[in-house]
Amino acid sequence: MSHCLQIVVATPAHSAIAGPLTYRSALPLSPGTLVRVPFGSREVLGVVWELLQDSGEMPETAIRDVASVLDGLAPLSSTWRRLVAFTAGYYQRSLGEVALAALPPQLRDLTTLQLARRLKRPVADTSHAPDTTDLIALSAQQACAIAEFDAETSAKQRPALLFGATGSGKTEVYLRAAAKVLAQDPEAQVLVMVPEINLTPQLQARFEARFAHLGRERVVPMHSGLTPAQRLKSWLAAHSGQARLVLGTRMAVFASMPNLRLLVVDEEHDPSYKQQEGARYSARDLAVYRARLESRSGDTPQKAEFSDGPPLGKLAPSGGSGLRETKSVGVKICRVLLGSATPSLESWQATLTGRYQRLNMDERIGASSTSGKGASERSAGPPQASSAPSGGSALRVVNSVGAAGLPTVRRVDMNHQPRHCVIAPPLLAAIAERVARGEQSMIFLNRRGYAPVLACLDCDWKSDCPHCSAYRVFHKIDRTLRCHHCGFTERVPRACPKCGNIDIAPVGRGTERLEEHLAELLAGVTRPDGSPVRIARIDADSTRLKGSLESQLASVHAGEVDVLVGTQMIAKGHDFRHITLVAAVNPDGALFSSDFRAPERLFSLLMQAAGRAGRDARHSAASEMWVQTFHPGHPLFEALKRHDYPAFAAEQLAERQAAGLSPFGFSALIRADAKTQEVAQGFLSAAAQAARTQQLPGHAHVTAYPAVPMTIQRVANIERAQMLVESPSRKALQGFLAAWQPLLFETRRQAEFKSLVRWAIDVDPIAI
Ligand code: ADP
Ligand code: ZN
Ligand code: ZN
Repeated sequence: MSHCLQIVVATPAHSAIAGPLTYRSALPLSPGTLVRVPFGSREVLGVVWELLQDSGEMPETAIRDVASVLDGLAPLSSTWRRLVAFTAGYYQRSLGEVALAALPPQLRDLTTLQLARRLKRPVADTSHAPDTTDLIALSAQQACAIAEFDAETSAKQRPALLFGATGSGKTEVYLRAAAKVLAQDPEAQVLVMVPEINLTPQLQARFEARFAHLGRERVVPMHSGLTPAQRLKSWLAAHSGQARLVLGTRMAVFASMPNLRLLVVDEEHDPSYKQQEGARYSARDLAVYRARLESRSGDTPQKAEFSDGPPLGKLAPSGGSGLRETKSVGVKICRVLLGSATPSLESWQATLTGRYQRLNMDERIGASSTSGKGASERSAGPPQASSAPSGGSALRVVNSVGAAGLPTVRRVDMNHQPRHCVIAPPLLAAIAERVARGEQSMIFLNRRGYAPVLACLDCDWKSDCPHCSAYRVFHKIDRTLRCHHCGFTERVPRACPKCGNIDIAPVGRGTERLEEHLAELLAGVTRPDGSPVRIARIDADSTRLKGSLESQLASVHAGEVDVLVGTQMIAKGHDFRHITLVAAVNPDGALFSSDFRAPERLFSLLMQAAGRAGRDARHSAASEMWVQTFHPGHPLFEALKRHDYPAFAAEQLAERQAAGLSPFGFSALIRADAKTQEVAQGFLSAAAQAARTQQLPGHAHVTAYPAVPMTIQRVANIERAQMLVESPSRKALQGFLAAWQPLLFETRRQAEFKSLVRWAIDVDPIAI
């Protein structure tokens, strides 16, 4: 007798096949089993989703047989399948696309035999007792955070948000929380996620060292920088339970970990947790969701009942329908620990309402603070302002005493500086002073290349990209004009292509030009030993070669650089010990952006950048963060001056509440790409019209705005448009989107939209 199975395979995102396909097998394969099945003329990897009672409406003869089973691999757990099903439903993608994208690519290509060979090498058990001799003593705040986190274990299991200043020692808290979970249960597994693993090569070594006692290969990496073979190896180790700790980027949220007991999301506010193509999931939100799923059950067979996408925050408590049997097995606990110095306003709001537990660490390690005042108390204190002109003429620098070892923030009012000056005289003087003292400075500017535009001084020619509605950036180093959107690159013309004038000049400034400019300005400045100042630059251009980022970082750490110039790449995460001055040259753009999240991103970037300064306690008292701005009185900078995230968040949340924006409202973007803007917008408008006509579920609570061109309207000759859809109810929005999908497919098939290139839904978009 044969069995009918529902099997999920990778289906093209926009094919009509969204759900599992029916196959036949001689054996009753359990859900989660990995198989190979015929699909068209090929044989592809599939995941058994469900066993069917009968073949339903399909004629028996139309059903094909499962080709083979990937023996030796345990089935993927029901929790994993539910996570995948939820993701597909919530982010409006096909189940097959999400499920197969969550598996290592090499698993698709290996033959059963090759796989068996990989599975054959078990790692010898080399574990021994943990060596606790050189464990550092916890700070009082770290100890307190851990105690509070543990105390919650017996209560409601809320997600926890570790609100810890940069340098407060969050990593040690993650390590201790992980160590505890791993020690309690010899099978337990921990997942630690970081935004960009390539930027933190130190971290893996640190985790490996701390958990060396668990034996070899118990800590494994999972990120896109791995080779396919490495990725498969890590995945197999996690899936088999061999790996006890997975350290990865956003993709790791889908790692198959049968005994997952703790998820850590470091820098939880970081935009890179949001996938920007395919299924545009938020790994942070999914981590919170997954922890709840993992807490609820053992491995009970499940239907993909979340594919309709229930609201993230409104899942039934454990013991809900269909899960009763697991009670006797014993409910296992899986917690999630988010951490940040500048949490996402969504997570912060959740701590204000008590939905998340908050753990506070507002002091830097080693900061000689005299009181244990909390951040919120401090923000209530009187602002300490004094002006300290240091040579500049009409200088207005506002000071504040560095909070708990954090650097003093100085705002330079650019309205009172020489016109067109890039580095204000007082800032330049401060940098020169550091160089003379043998200290390091870090200057950042969020624009790489030499100059954002090259322009003719005679006519109106500018270096625009012929394929995009954007300028090509001038890169002096190889004399090219490069489009940062489509990549189109050309040599710089000898003369203006339009009028023949040979006077064409760079306009504006990127990191490359800033580096050159600083070299000129600091030419006469010497180091304590009389040698000339050393300036270096780190950005996407300087780190293109593999390994170059590591070596450049190493030379900064080794003290071989006095002034480091770079993009936000250098503002994130690195533990530079000798930097005593950080400067943001031109951060004003984000203050008046049309994207409501721009201030949040700027604030967190500046706080992170500030956190780079004065990490070494010896210097922290004298460390400074400089901000050049035309709006020194802006509330964002006022809050920054006091290192006062809670005040910043309160102001932003009030604004968002008034406007019904996240986290008080929910949104999705529908994007459309076409040869012409008319077709792109027309498609969106027609689909919205269809939704109105059909009165989709939830429509009464959903607002669809008119279609508009995207900010960068054209990229690589493709016109781009978007439509914003909003609702005060996540549930209404979800219901609406799910019902809208088939209409979007239908609209796409209409003759007038034949030239549409693609469309996509972005749920909970992070940039508008
Ligand atoms: P965060 O992630 O909060 O910015 P880190 O985890 O990078 O901070 O810690 C900052 C520095 O303090 C690191 O160099 C770390 O090794 C050190 N550190 C952390 N905890 C302690 C402690 N209890 N005692 C001494 N040093 C510590
Ligand atoms: Zn010209
Ligand atoms: Zn271009």
